[in-house]
Amino acid sequence: MSQTALPVVRTIADLRAVVAAWKAAGERVALVPTMGALHDGHMALIAAAKARADRCVASIFVNPAQFAPHEDFDAYPRGEDRDSAMLAAAGCDLLFAPNAREMYPAGFSTAVSVGGVSQPLEGVSRPKFFGGVATVVAKLLIQCGPDVALFGEKDYQQLLVIKRMALDLDLPVEIVGVPTARDRDGLALSSRNAYLTAEQRKAASALPAAMRYAVAALQDGGEAIDVEGAVNASLTGAGFGPIDYVEIRDGATLDRLGPGPVRPGARVFVAAWLGKTRLIDNWGV
Ligand code: AMP
Repeated sequence: MSQTALPVVRTIADLRAVVAAWKAAGERVALVPTMGALHDGHMALIAAAKARADRCVASIFVNPAQFAPHEDFDAYPRGEDRDSAMLAAAGCDLLFAPNAREMYPAGFSTAVSVGGVSQPLEGVSRPKFFGGVATVVAKLLIQCGPDVALFGEKDYQQLLVIKRMALDLDLPVEIVGVPTARDRDGLALSSRNAYLTAEQRKAASALPAAMRYAVAALQDGGEAIDVEGAVNASLTGAGFGPIDYVEIRDGATLDRLGPGPVRPGARVFVAAWLGKTRLIDNWGV
């Protein structure tokens, strides 16, 4: 069956013109920001967007500002034709795919910096990451002016950072989190899973298995520190390393938990390397 091509705009002016026409017609607009290399996790965001709005815009921009010099910006998978076909099939209305010059023109000098929830976990492992994310997401929200924007719980800390930023900057948009889409063995879908060899992909099953163990142990009254140790040991045993963090924290504030049984709302956060691929996941207790 032939699929109608997805309309694409590459400039902020063209994006604003399309969105303004929709709003003039009284339509509610949703934005789903992505870096492309789309998979069913992204499609879950599109489905959630369509459930909440009349029109759905997806953006694809591999944001150089959120990659450190030693990270995988150049290697990051790119393929707009395939992405565009997937978005069209999912019922997305518009693709916004700006280039780096459109997003960061010569002389660009502004950064959005979020404190608090951006500091632990990824904030320790990737110190510049949330500054780059907050800046580009603030720009996308201002450029598009959606009524609602959707982000995956797969990047749970990022979701909290964006919610905080939208609140603090009075951005008139509802930020909605969407549950993590997973493969059959429970591994969270990620564009970076494409880096895994077949053997590593098998070994990666140990990550969701360890997360499930952690949730069950905590629900049984296990101490956070013991569970963190056990998860660390099982990941190391499965060939992961280095392990950037295994931490159980409050799911709203990201505060560390004290001794004793964990309170409702706690969350297990893991970031660990498998060969040259860094995998992250989180699971609510
Ligand atoms: P990315 O293209 O990886 O920057 O992700 C774009 C958006 O998709 C972010 O809001 C991610 O949290 C979300 N996302 C990525 N993987 C998943 C997944 N497995 N399930 C749900 N959302 C996801």
